[in-house]
Amino acid sequence: MKITDVKSAIIGNNIVIRVVTDKGIDGYGEVEEGKDFVQPLVSYYKDLILGCDPTNVEFVMRRIRRAGAFKPWGKIVSTIEMALWDIAGKDAGIPVYKLLGGKVRDRVRVYNGSFSNPNPPHPVADTPEKQGENILALRELPEGFTIVKNAGVFHGMGFFQSAGLDEPAYNTYPQEPEASWMLDNGSLLTEEALDAYIDHIARIKSVVKNRVGLALDCGPGMTAVDALKLAKALEPFNIVWLEDTIAGDYTPFTLAHVYRDITINTTTPIHTGEQIYLRQNFRELIENRAVNVIGPDPADVGGIAELKWIAEYSDLHGILMAPHGTIDGVFGMAALTHVCSTMPQNFIAYEYPAGHPDWWYDIVDGLPDPLLRDGHVTVWDKPGFGVEFNVNKASEYLREEDQDFFR
Ligand SMILES: [Mg+2]
Repeated sequence: MKITDVKSAIIGNNIVIRVVTDKGIDGYGEVEEGKDFVQPLVSYYKDLILGCDPTNVEFVMRRIRRAGAFKPWGKIVSTIEMALWDIAGKDAGIPVYKLLGGKVRDRVRVYNGSFSNPNPPHPVADTPEKQGENILALRELPEGFTIVKNAGVFHGMGFFQSAGLDEPAYNTYPQEPEASWMLDNGSLLTEEALDAYIDHIARIKSVVKNRVGLALDCGPGMTAVDALKLAKALEPFNIVWLEDTIAGDYTPFTLAHVYRDITINTTTPIHTGEQIYLRQNFRELIENRAVNVIGPDPADVGGIAELKWIAEYSDLHGILMAPHGTIDGVFGMAALTHVCSTMPQNFIAYEYPAGHPDWWYDIVDGLPDPLLRDGHVTVWDKPGFGVEFNVNKASEYLREEDQDFFR
């Protein structure tokens, strides 16, 4: 079998990659929502792998892995990897999880990521108590999330707005209103801002109590001292983890030594890793036990075999796994379910990527129905990732420039 083409199309909110073979077997992968700018990179990687046997996944990856990097480059490399596993599974007639060593659990726990409650108690949750009630409602749905992640401090700025504070630049010393918040907030929080955030979490927890695990995605861009003050202040609230305080998201570095100073001084579990490309870039975090939980994203780390290796190495060092799910939609969800079903006991949950818009669930076949119940996805048993496009239905959603995607 040979790779004859690698195509991409924007379907709904996602870029979808299709690896085409001369045997009539296709593999699919999905890139993070809204990252349309990476689409031109596909042809660069395609030229490096045309003619290769896609079932020799590692052979193919050695051709393109060196040409990846932290976001956005690693996204395409990672997504091609997942499509190769999809082909290898379909060709062998077995689910991808068997190619990764076999599943050790039939149901995989997820945490709330891009899933939104169609009927939240508070469509506008402008107080921490209302946010807490919305979190409890996610537990009460049939989907039944047992862990929910909230954005806080610098992440998405939601906290500053809901706490009635100005933009974060005005809540730090020194004021740097022109600074790029995506890379580096970097300044000390004012006492007022730090107190407000701690109070905000305390009020959410007063409603949620211990009925739903609460994780907090906080940055990146906090100073080490603020991150440690926050982590220590949150100790009584038993949050599941405190994510990306220092580096994360779009930072092209890890700052493991800074994370370690925080982690060894608090019982609040410290988490990072969603932005990191390749196992080599996790080595310092893992070997120094610089965090308690790591969260590689299969669509950024180099794929699912890379993620599996990191999970095993983390387990060896007493570090837990809570993989990140960029808003990948159904193919990303399928890949996460397969790989996480094979992980050791250090697995907590993966971030559940929902298909957007909802019609995504009408244009694919093969997913279990219901898919998500009681906070878990039940592993399904079809070859490859077990998700197929319904080409007739999916074609209706192709853009003009992507009309040849399925041809
Ligand atoms: Mg994050």
